[in-house]
Amino acid sequence: MTDATPGLHLETERGENVFDDFKPPYDKGHALAEAHRCLYCVDAPCISACPTGIDIPTFIRKIGTENIKGSAKTILDSNILGMSCARVCPVEVLCVGACVYNHMDQPPIQIGKLQRYATDAALEAGWQFHEAGPDTGKSVGLVGGGAASLAAAHKLRQYGHAVTIYEKRDVLGGLNTYGVAPYKLKADDAIEEIRWLLQIGGVEVVTGADVGTSPTWQELDERHDALFVGLGLGEDRILDIPGTDLDGVWGAVAHIEALKLGALPTEDATDVVVIGGGNTAIDCVREACGIFAAAGNADATVSMVYRGSEAAMSGYKHEWKLAKQEGARGVFGALPIEILGDADGKVRAVRCTKVDADKKPIAGSEFELPAGAVLFAVGQAKLGELAASLDGVQLQWGKIVVNEQGATTRPGLYAGGDCANGGKEVVNAVAEGRDAAVAIDAYLQGS
Ligand code: SF4
Repeated sequence: MTDATPGLHLETERGENVFDDFKPPYDKGHALAEAHRCLYCVDAPCISACPTGIDIPTFIRKIGTENIKGSAKTILDSNILGMSCARVCPVEVLCVGACVYNHMDQPPIQIGKLQRYATDAALEAGWQFHEAGPDTGKSVGLVGGGAASLAAAHKLRQYGHAVTIYEKRDVLGGLNTYGVAPYKLKADDAIEEIRWLLQIGGVEVVTGADVGTSPTWQELDERHDALFVGLGLGEDRILDIPGTDLDGVWGAVAHIEALKLGALPTEDATDVVVIGGGNTAIDCVREACGIFAAAGNADATVSMVYRGSEAAMSGYKHEWKLAKQEGARGVFGALPIEILGDADGKVRAVRCTKVDADKKPIAGSEFELPAGAVLFAVGQAKLGELAASLDGVQLQWGKIVVNEQGATTRPGLYAGGDCANGGKEVVNAVAEGRDAAVAIDAYLQGS
């Protein structure tokens, strides 16, 4: 792959460059020591906890015998995006959370860091473990260039089907490239993984594709024998309150994208207020803390406003604990009611109210938080409108209805990732794309 391949070019100067790795990689000594702690359990619970079902004890055992290439193969056979998943998976609630050591009052095996050790080596060395199958004469169109479509494309090429990925943006990778917090995964690392994945060959990439309009669904139907839809989610939701049109008000994912692909969007802001209590809100909070720390701005404040209690936050507790250690503060049981601006139309404060147990505003409890930037992390819209334009495809609450193999209600059309699961982890999208590819192959063979 060269930079001439569509979807792989990034600007050199990006706001994310100020961030250090929040989980530095293992060196050989640490990796071997940690691998030798593994008990290589029979019926290992860590495997069941991994959505892609990686044979974790086997890959760890191979690291322990210094067979790093074999270890990487074990991982990548199940999860072709194993490098990025090693960085972005919430392992504390998946494989590491299931490790038997948790029941023995001893630290669980650091599976994510071991997986990173093996997969980083694979990408650095350029090891390839899969090759394209003999040409079948069949063609599959994949709508969206995120994790689900990439995993599906790689698998479909192994079966020998021609594949074309249609991506609306200029870059491939979906959230891995523009939506995952940069202290977990930088855009250039995500792109390097895709560059490596595409070395299987024969994956056509079309960027700037406005599917539904150009090309139309009908044109895709005519070009391909089957379709996979991995559209992800839509725009950030913004609360309907006065002042959201002020300069300095962002949707959370749009803000992450801006700093991952371009210059720092909130460099000059002295105070940041994040609205929400989920994982994206915590990502935004930690990003703001990281930006201010990198700039040496000790006076800046980072606040997270959430209508529920701290215990009721949907974001991961371990991530919030780290955010607080980095200087963030939570404002719980509160709602924003207005964004206030200065004479130049820039945000200067968020007006909030406390709420009661039923989330109803408490009269007379209003207060203001100073803000140079306000980030809404209250969810993303489903892409129901675009999906609804697909004849014969059943939707439920804006999600595409699929069976366990990713088949929709329309023959020959499959879906996976956030547009079908409503918004889960990258590793779920990889599993769904991979499994849909298996089903698509069976469909194309008429079985
Ligand atoms: Fe190793 Fe823990 Fe998995 Fe057992 S559960 S195989 S100790 S990582």
